[in-house]
Amino acid sequence: MEELAINNKVIILHFGELWLRGRNRNKYIMSLIRNIKSALISESYSMLYYYDRIILKLLTDSNVDSIEKKVSTIFGLSAYETAVVTAPNIKSIRKTTEEFIKELKKKNAKIVKINSHRSYKEHEFNSIDVIKDLTELLNKNNFQVLTKGFDSEIYVSIAKEHAFVYLDKKKALGGLPVGTSGKCIILLSGGIDSPVAAWFAMKRGLQPIFVHVHAYTTNDEAYNIKIGELYKILSQYATKPKMYIFPSSIFQAYTAQYNLGRNNTVILKAFMLRLADKISKLEKTPIIYTGESLGQVSSQTPWNLLAESYGVKSEILRPLIGLDKDEIVKIARKINTFDISAKEYKDVCTLNYRNATTSVNLEEFKDQVKKIQLSKILLKTLKEGKLYN
Ligand code: ATP
Ligand code: MG
Repeated sequence: MEELAINNKVIILHFGELWLRGRNRNKYIMSLIRNIKSALISESYSMLYYYDRIILKLLTDSNVDSIEKKVSTIFGLSAYETAVVTAPNIKSIRKTTEEFIKELKKKNAKIVKINSHRSYKEHEFNSIDVIKDLTELLNKNNFQVLTKGFDSEIYVSIAKEHAFVYLDKKKALGGLPVGTSGKCIILLSGGIDSPVAAWFAMKRGLQPIFVHVHAYTTNDEAYNIKIGELYKILSQYATKPKMYIFPSSIFQAYTAQYNLGRNNTVILKAFMLRLADKISKLEKTPIIYTGESLGQVSSQTPWNLLAESYGVKSEILRPLIGLDKDEIVKIARKINTFDISAKEYKDVCTLNYRNATTSVNLEEFKDQVKKIQLSKILLKTLKEGKLYN
């Protein structure tokens, strides 16, 4: 195992603790390590498994900001901190803390809270001793030390062979490592909602396989104009994602000869869900994620949702069903998909939106699906798809 030495700079990664105790612990940790390696593939560092943590040892040519940024996109981590390694004794901890004084001054810190935690309790000193010693050091350097009303913090984490000193503890994404729950299909539009639904799927450990239907002349055109960009952003959270892109032209050509009236949108959605259902069979996953929020638009009323899902064998999950638009937008901004989603795009659905029914009649819907030969449309469309990965 890679060794840690005094003064090494490291990033300490903490896992979500709930699943740590479960029976699948090793499987989760192996997946997490695989995901970390894949996210940091172009970075310079070395990795150690250190008790219940993963440590990234930084090397002289490491780009700390870039590594931290990538770490912040990995599901299954609860927190991380960039720390300096020292020996587990008061003298060394003090010496290492001295190195942080300059940084505290640069931050314009006045009141500092000292946090000391021992994961190994057999040393001859305890956390109170550390706090006493460091309080003296900080006071000498004109900082006040308080546990309330502080503007900065310093952390000391003491293990058996090492101690770690750092200034910031950063919250990570939480969730489960991507892939540990298997795969899922995500119906990805160019809009704001479905990328957020994808984020929720990945958060629960699902590896995403995106399915997109476009209104452009070629699949590449749709990919290059917008959907490829969304795919790339979302891929930062995933390992080995894939995306299938299909044209809507066959559906449009077949249905143009019939008057579907106000059911048009619901039938289009049914087409997309059945297409996703075919891909879910191909990819051997039982789940489809979509981005509906109840009542947001006419296709998202209870009766319409029922009709759209009719005949779909996979389980359809709608993680945004109870969210308001502003709540969805807030997440979209946080995960950096909002600006791309807001860009102009020829949306397949918008053509049919106006005047769409809010309460489709299931029997009428079934008749229409038969009349337009939806199964035939699906088979033809599947042949026109393209896989991107
Ligand atoms: P979004 O913001 O995700 O586009 P929306 O508010 O436009 O959603 P709908 O048009 O009813 O709502 O779409 C609901 C869901 O159906 C989407 O969240 C997505 O999962 C799926 N969907 C819609 N259009 C497409 C498309 N062109 N390709 C693939 N899936 C789509
Ligand atoms: Mg949309």
